[in-house]
Amino acid sequence: MTTATAFDVAAIRADFPILAQQLNGNPLVYFDNAATTQKPASVIETIDEYYRSYNANIHRGLHALAERATHEFELTRTAAQRFLNAETREQIIFTGGTTEGINLVAATYGRMAVGEGDEIVVSAMEHHSNIVPWQMLCQEKKARLKVIPMSDHGVLDLDAAAQTIGPRTKVVAVVYASNSLGTVNPVKALIELAHAQGAVVLVDAAQAAGHFPLDVQALGADFLVLSSHKLFGPTGIGLLYGRRALLEAMPPYQGGGEMIRDVSFEHTTYNELPYKFEAGTPNIADVVAFRKAIEYVEALDRPAAHAHEQALLAHATEALQAAVPQARVIGQAADKISVLSFVVPGAHHQDMGILLDNYGIAVRTGHHCTQPIMDRLGIPGTVRASFSIYNTVEEIDYFAQKLQRVVKMVQ
Ligand code: PMP
Repeated sequence: MTTATAFDVAAIRADFPILAQQLNGNPLVYFDNAATTQKPASVIETIDEYYRSYNANIHRGLHALAERATHEFELTRTAAQRFLNAETREQIIFTGGTTEGINLVAATYGRMAVGEGDEIVVSAMEHHSNIVPWQMLCQEKKARLKVIPMSDHGVLDLDAAAQTIGPRTKVVAVVYASNSLGTVNPVKALIELAHAQGAVVLVDAAQAAGHFPLDVQALGADFLVLSSHKLFGPTGIGLLYGRRALLEAMPPYQGGGEMIRDVSFEHTTYNELPYKFEAGTPNIADVVAFRKAIEYVEALDRPAAHAHEQALLAHATEALQAAVPQARVIGQAADKISVLSFVVPGAHHQDMGILLDNYGIAVRTGHHCTQPIMDRLGIPGTVRASFSIYNTVEEIDYFAQKLQRVVKMVQ
């Protein structure tokens, strides 16, 4: 069996207060990190501090609290620019999360660039949030949605991608790392294919962000979206990065306060980037706290963190096969984030999930908002154990031992 690296997991765990608790008389084993990660104390305390000491509306006020709140809010934009290696901070737009980021791009760039007979290309392993907004756009514009196929192992077919992306393709929307399979996609190669055909690419980095460094310039991404809550930050907010020329050319997403320069009943002129896309009062407290999450990740030894997660994944894959030899791993790409999805013949995923919960083990079961993957593989759903920096080999051994018992109970 593989062993974990010298990464100091105990020190990391001490930063996450929620992990210390007992559930159903057992220590909490939190393996639902692909759904949302836990939050370090620095994030939790920043939200508390914001409301206790400087809650105020931003950008408009001249008083001290408004100035501090604005300053802290904008510091997160700068941190996000650094985190993504974006060219300028104005290219970072705060959203409600990955889902809103994709809807924003579909409703603005999509409506502007896609016409009748054009094509939008997604991959076979997209989350519903990177399918439905494009389907809606296709319906509105009489455009076609095309799909890059994947293998039984959950790997995208690059040759087929080159065939699928063509001269009528206007947008390619692709997931960087799959939440159901763990697969890390060759996004740079896909971007090159798309650019060769004059299409722009939106990268869904919801899962990738918490597992490895992102660099929008090295990728050549036109748009990249992510959610704070999968990156140790608060729920309900996220980032959209866009290429500057595209953001400048796009119409606004929502109308309202903040996104305007001048309003009269006859005519409105819009604000400059990034405010053109940030109508209304944003989720200030959570944006402010998100910076602490970004800084937390930046302070990690990222190669060591990645090695730790990969060791956990390898250990869990072996432990699963040893404990439940009939289990089938769903998603067997060579390059995976630390997501282990599996099915056990004769044992329903939901029953396994409920029984594991009795032992304090939190896993996710079902289709994970990726029904087309389940249809493609001919399964109703999976059990998904997804690991983060604070998980341990001991937790995995406990999980494997309890899973063995659970499978015997439900079969
Ligand atoms: N894309 C992927 C790959 C995801 O895993 C998720 C969340 N499960 C989303 C998009 C949607 O993210 P959110 O719900 O935070 O908008």
